Amino acid sequence: MLATLRRLVLAESPSLEKTAADRCCTLLAAEWRKRGARVERLTQKHRGDHLRITWWPGKSRPAGQLLVLGHYDTVYSTGTLRKMPFRISSGKAYGPGTFDMKGGLVQALFAFHALKLSVAPLRKRVLFLWTSDEEIGSESARKFIEGEARRSDAVFVLEPSLGPKGLLKTARKGVGEAEIIVQGRASHAGLAPEQGVNAVHELARQISRIEKWNDLRRGVTVNADIIEGGTRTNVIAERARAVLDLRALRSSDIRLIERRLHALKPILKGARLEVHGGFSRAPLERKSGAGLFARAKSLASQMGLTLGECTAGGGSDGNLTAALGVPTLDGLGAVGDGAHSAHEHLIVNAMPARAALLAALLSCS
Ligand SMILES: [Zn+2]
Repeated sequence: MLATLRRLVLAESPSLEKTAADRCCTLLAAEWRKRGARVERLTQKHRGDHLRITWWPGKSRPAGQLLVLGHYDTVYSTGTLRKMPFRISSGKAYGPGTFDMKGGLVQALFAFHALKLSVAPLRKRVLFLWTSDEEIGSESARKFIEGEARRSDAVFVLEPSLGPKGLLKTARKGVGEAEIIVQGRASHAGLAPEQGVNAVHELARQISRIEKWNDLRRGVTVNADIIEGGTRTNVIAERARAVLDLRALRSSDIRLIERRLHALKPILKGARLEVHGGFSRAPLERKSGAGLFARAKSLASQMGLTLGECTAGGGSDGNLTAALGVPTLDGLGAVGDGAHSAHEHLIVNAMPARAALLAALLSCS
């Protein structure tokens, strides 16, 4: 497993660099093909290609389809390996994308291989979908993810688990992004201040209004993470903009925030507001994967493992499939820590058990 992980990590695959990503895609395809799966490459113009891998060993028609979802792109640009090499130290494998989520892909590969060698019959066809642009919002993969999810009875997502105990993610917040653009009126700050409408001041007031929508107990967060405005000190700012990060656990809160955002009115006389955007990923509500989690927990306990669950603040492709009403269980990937950071790593010893858990889920679903 480590040798495969190492090969995948050494093939750096940033979402925005197609040539590099495609090299990783080729490598992944070869690993699956070598073990007898049917691999189809979904060629993309601007992003790395996606892989659609099917496996159905039976002679008769399968009773349905199970979708295993993962992405091979990472948030690290090419060359990151020089500062963050693949290395193993104190039982942890470090490197860009080890935890999020090449480790999960390796576990899936070995789960598939184990199932292939075992005598346990499958009831359903297994479809593995490995995509290349999850870290930038899955724009190119979305139609494949949704199309396959609609044909599936359950979706298993190989995103990293949470914490040292490897909690599965049975709920995820819905995520979005909005932009507020303020148009004011420029004027000389010394000679004619009364003729100006300060866009920066207007934006500051709007942001303090929006800040009050935060409700951590309900899982609602609204954060202005980028602001821009003005040109120089003696000119009253004519334009300002803010980009907001939006997150909520409940669909009702999502609708409420979107309504409030688009109903914002200017506070300063003469200012104009434009609001764009909103939520792009619906929440993964707990009820979506509760049944699958119960099954995973019981299978884990038969293997002598205890399995916990948690709610994640970030979205994943699991949000897309849950939004279609397909039972979705997320966080089945690696156990580790430090996704998207310099100390990203996975716990080596946890890999076989997680692979076994996935194999058990696939054969019992
Ligand atoms: Zn991920």
